[in-house]
Amino acid sequence: MLNKKIKKLLIGTNNKGKLKEIRSLLPKYIKTYSTSDFKLKSPIENGESFKENSLIKSRYFSKKTNLTCIADDSGLEIDILNKRPGIYSARWAGRESNFNKAIKKVYKELKKKDKDWKKKKIKARFICALSISFLNKKISCVIGKVEGYIAHEPKGKNGFGYDPIFIPLKGKQTFGEMKSNLKYKIDHRSMAYRKIRRFL
Ligand code: IMP
Repeated sequence: MLNKKIKKLLIGTNNKGKLKEIRSLLPKYIKTYSTSDFKLKSPIENGESFKENSLIKSRYFSKKTNLTCIADDSGLEIDILNKRPGIYSARWAGRESNFNKAIKKVYKELKKKDKDWKKKKIKARFICALSISFLNKKISCVIGKVEGYIAHEPKGKNGFGYDPIFIPLKGKQTFGEMKSNLKYKIDHRSMAYRKIRRFL
C-alpha cells in the first residue's frame, strides 16, 4: 500500500462546511492543509459521476501542491426528481452559492412533479465520493451514503448547503437542527471516511 502513515495531507475543498467536517474526521497526528493555504481555486468538475468529480479534485489539488490530497464530491439525490440535483447540487445554488435559492428550487421542482408532495415521504439521500490521490495516482476512491427524506420546510441553522431540508431515516431532526458532532457520526462523509481511512 502506498503512503502508509501519511503525515501531511491536503484537504481538497473550498467549501468551509466540508473542510471543517473532513478535518474533524482525520486522525490528529496528520498535519492538514487547506486549499486556501495555497490560494487555490477549484478545478472545473466535468465528470459524469460523484467518483469522477472527486478524483478530478484530489488529482488536481495534489498536482498543484505536491501533497497527497483527500477530496470529496457530494450532493443530494431526490428519488422523485430522478435523483436530481445529484452531481449538480452545488450548481443549483448558483455562482454566489446561495443555498436559500437551491432549497427554493428543490421545493419548486417537487411541487411541479407532485402538488401533493407534502402529504408524502419524499425519499432522498446524501452521497459522498471520497478520494485520496498523490499527483495523478489514485490511492483510493469510495462512496458513502445516508438515506433520508425531504423536510416540508427548512429547519435549523447548523451545517451548510441542503442540511436544513434533509432528515435522516433514523431521525426526526434535519441535519440543520442537529449538533455537528452528531451529524458527523452518521452522515455520508463519515460513512465514506470509514471505508477510506485504512489508506491513511
Ligand atoms: P461539490 O461536491 O463541491 O460539487 O458540492 C456539493 C454540494 O452538495 C455542496 O455545495 C453542498 O451544498 C451539497 N452538500 C454536500 N454535502 C452536504 C452536506 O453534508 N450537507 C448539506 N449539503 C451538502
